[in-house]
Amino acid sequence: MDLASVQSDIEKVIVNEEQLQNRLKEIARQIENDYKDQDLLLIGVLKGAVMVMADLTRHINRHVEIDWMAVSSYGSGTKSSGVVRILKDLDRDITGRNVVIIEDIVDTGLTLDWLSQNLKSRGAGSVEIMTVLRKPDAAMVKVDIRYVGFDIPKDFVIGYGLDFNEKYRNLPFIAVLAKHMYE
Ligand code: IMP
Repeated sequence: MDLASVQSDIEKVIVNEEQLQNRLKEIARQIENDYKDQDLLLIGVLKGAVMVMADLTRHINRHVEIDWMAVSSYGSGTKSSGVVRILKDLDRDITGRNVVIIEDIVDTGLTLDWLSQNLKSRGAGSVEIMTVLRKPDAAMVKVDIRYVGFDIPKDFVIGYGLDFNEKYRNLPFIAVLAKHMYE
């Protein structure tokens, strides 16, 4: 979906399509380097990470395996609840595997903190995190985030997998949702 279709719903575009893809290519090079000759399993967090998984993996020039989890941390509003529930679990055992969690955004970090502990407790060989976006509050989280696309302000953002009431995921860029849409 293009910018013209959502112009009146958004305040501004903060990361455009070209910036996104260029940054993902850089991260792909880093991942290739960091896991040279090593096993690599990317675990995407549904539904937000669908876009980044599709693009990032196509920029990575080596074999990778992909699995998915779905967890719920948000209701239908714009505030984090802190409650994490597994809606869909992994298909395969991850004992001894080198895992990189692929996320759309880290806000409070509650979801990722819980998820990385969960994967470590299942015996993963290593667990690292890649997120497209990181908000300022994430600085308070204990979890280390190895790969960050962009640091952004606290505003509620949509696009590139991120939704507001399940809409806007199919925008190829990231934008701040206009306040009149939820206030
Ligand atoms: P956290 O647990 O507070 O880090 O929240 C993580 C989850 O909240 C993300 O995976 C998103 O689904 C959702 N989320 C946080 N901030 C935003 C936002 O600005 N727009 C859309 N979803 C968000």
